[in-house]
Amino acid sequence: MCSFMRYGIFSDVHSNLEALEAVIKEYKKEAIDTYLCLGDVVGYAANPNECVDKVKRLARVTVCGNHDWASVGLFSANYFNPVAGEAINWTKHYLNDEAWVFLESLKTVYEFDDLTLVHGTLDNPADFNYMVDCYDASETFELLNSNVCFVGHTHVAGVFIQDQHKNIRYSNPSSLGLKDGNRCIVNVGSVGQPRDDNPAAAYCIYDTHKNEILIKRIGYDVGVTRNKIIDAGLPRFLGDRLIAGR
Ligand code: ZN
Repeated sequence: MCSFMRYGIFSDVHSNLEALEAVIKEYKKEAIDTYLCLGDVVGYAANPNECVDKVKRLARVTVCGNHDWASVGLFSANYFNPVAGEAINWTKHYLNDEAWVFLESLKTVYEFDDLTLVHGTLDNPADFNYMVDCYDASETFELLNSNVCFVGHTHVAGVFIQDQHKNIRYSNPSSLGLKDGNRCIVNVGSVGQPRDDNPAAAYCIYDTHKNEILIKRIGYDVGVTRNKIIDAGLPRFLGDRLIAGR
């Protein structure tokens, strides 16, 4: 007997409560069985505690992102650009005890049924490297024990597909049918700070019955999030980039 699942898989919320609420509202229409989060719940925007609380209650598993660990002192803030570093320090001071304990508890990799979750790459996952090309993807495929892997981190949705001959190609379809013999690494994009010139929040659905992966987008009031960022004393740039989706 095998049981089919409909997963809701999302990443890089980055303390953006308005984007997270918009995504959850869409997910509620989708008959999702299990939610999985690929990390970077916090960092950049003004609602870290609220986002941690929602993700903690929603997701069966959350793996850690570099911002999550940096915000609780488990990853060096020196690896961040000055603006991101400023947001890390702001978040560190603003986190409540509950959020702190949750972020501290997150692990780098999770293997679950026939899928694997990691924020960046499977090679040295605690270094939080970016998977940007097929070579980067090949290193993760080498270490992958399942047919499907979900990642975030780049804030750009897309899929690396490896065929039986170990050839890898990249594409960014909004829906993908999984073929027997192929393996794939899916970047689900970012809920709270997309960087593909589209400000709408990105989220993923994986249906194991239809063997189908969907990347969806939902717009929300980006201006509200931007104003909260500025009012909180966070760098203005972090608000402005949301408007542009950069
Ligand atoms: Zn991120």
